[in-house]
Amino acid sequence: MRKPVIAGNWKLNGTIAEALALVTELKALLPTNENVDVVVCPPFTALGTVAAATTSSAIQLGGQDIFFRQKGAYTGQISGPMLLDCGCKYVIMGHSERRGRFGVPEPDFTDDVLRVFGDNDTTVNLKLRAALANGLIPICCVGEILSERETGQTDDVVRKQVIAALKDVSPEETATVIFAYEPVWAIGTGKVCAADEADRVCGIIRATVASIAGDAAAHAVRIQYGGSVKPDNAQDLLGRPNIDGALVGGASLKAADFAGIVIAAG
Ligand code: PEP
Repeated sequence: MRKPVIAGNWKLNGTIAEALALVTELKALLPTNENVDVVVCPPFTALGTVAAATTSSAIQLGGQDIFFRQKGAYTGQISGPMLLDCGCKYVIMGHSERRGRFGVPEPDFTDDVLRVFGDNDTTVNLKLRAALANGLIPICCVGEILSERETGQTDDVVRKQVIAALKDVSPEETATVIFAYEPVWAIGTGKVCAADEADRVCGIIRATVASIAGDAAAHAVRIQYGGSVKPDNAQDLLGRPNIDGALVGGASLKAADFAGIVIAAG
């Protein structure tokens, strides 16, 4: 049995005081359930405060991104050792808001969906390996954009992203990775992917892991669904055989909604 993992990606939201208020409210609402891993990923500036507030709780901490060098002249970047220093156990990489799509015709590339950070399959692999090398659990996001889904490329896009992410990663390390299947058209849009279809694509991710790292790793690897997960659709999604949790954006900013999703997972 794989342990479900519910992770909240707070993105660019919250002062330190607001992050503290949110995590304090969440602590009060969360059931004590050791069968679910609960992770919050606040902005870097609030990591230390949220870590201090969660020391004696079941809430675990993650970073929203990692740079693949340990230290040096890389202005603005955050390294694995820095994340560990703040109390992180997990880190997200490859989020669609950070993957660049430059040079690719993309009808849904609009000013309010800026993917300006230029992450690509190569940097996502470097970040995933940096996370593993530092003992952090990677939450590696993969998923197709709307035009790729509409032209029947979903399976190929997801397979390619998973294969690239796992380049030079051993089967033992692969077993510890969390993949998040996040269809880009479902993120922050209120359009949730149908549970059957989300489960099917998560199955493709698992089969791809099996083809690279073997059945044991594929059986162990945890695969989240992400994209407009809310308390009212969580149970349907989380009840599927290949879906081992959720990566939650908008709903993770409301303590009651995030707690509702955690309860649905347990
Ligand atoms: C996300 O950003 O990873 C995400 C899934 O966002 P939302 O839940 O708001 O769709």
